[in-house]
Amino acid sequence: MDAQCRTSDPAIFAAGDCVRFPGRGGLVRLENWIHAQDHGASAGRNAAGARDEYAPVPSFWSEQYDLYLQGVGWPVADAARVHRPLDANRAIVFEVHDGCLTYAMGINVQRDLAIARRLIERRIPVDPEALADAGRPLAAMLKR
Ligand SMILES: Cc1cc2nc3c(=O)[nH]c(=O)nc-3n(C[C@H](O)[C@H](O)[C@H](O)COP(=O)(O)OP(=O)(O)OC[C@H]3O[C@@H](n4cnc5c(N)ncnc54)[C@H](O)[C@@H]3O)c2cc1C
Repeated sequence: MDAQCRTSDPAIFAAGDCVRFPGRGGLVRLENWIHAQDHGASAGRNAAGARDEYAPVPSFWSEQYDLYLQGVGWPVADAARVHRPLDANRAIVFEVHDGCLTYAMGINVQRDLAIARRLIERRIPVDPEALADAGRPLAAMLKR
């Protein structure tokens, strides 16, 4: 499928779990609700004549009992991994590549993941030491 959700038959558009589309580093398949919703909207607009390029910063969430799991960004094979130590029942790990945040995954850290999304989308340079220090607010990194 191409970046405008068009299949090998140009009259047929597809979205969601069933398709591979051009992502970071090649064709990828994402399987989560947010992708299915956003991809479907993009496919629908293009089927109606628009020329939307679907280029998401992927993200997912899942509630597992009292744990709220989230991930955002594109994992990169040779990224540096940074853990930010948090209190019980909360966890967050970052991946940094070429000085920027490329991926973050967390448990019970909705606010931090929202900030991580903005850092990824804006490609704001980050300091791994600051990411690893829970005393240094992530929001301050948006102001660099
Ligand atoms: C057990 C489980 C847990 C999950 N938990 C999470 C989660 O916590 N968070 C998250 O983000 N994602 C989760 N997912 C993934 C998420 O459900 C999927 O990524 C999402 O539903 C994909 O949406 P879709 O519209 O692409 O496909 P689907 O939701 O699979 O919809 C496809 C539809 O097409 C219909 N269909 C198939 N063949 C035909 C046919 N020939 N003719 C007509 N209709 C057909 C199917 O019946 C189905 O209704 C979970 C998936 C599973 C299986």
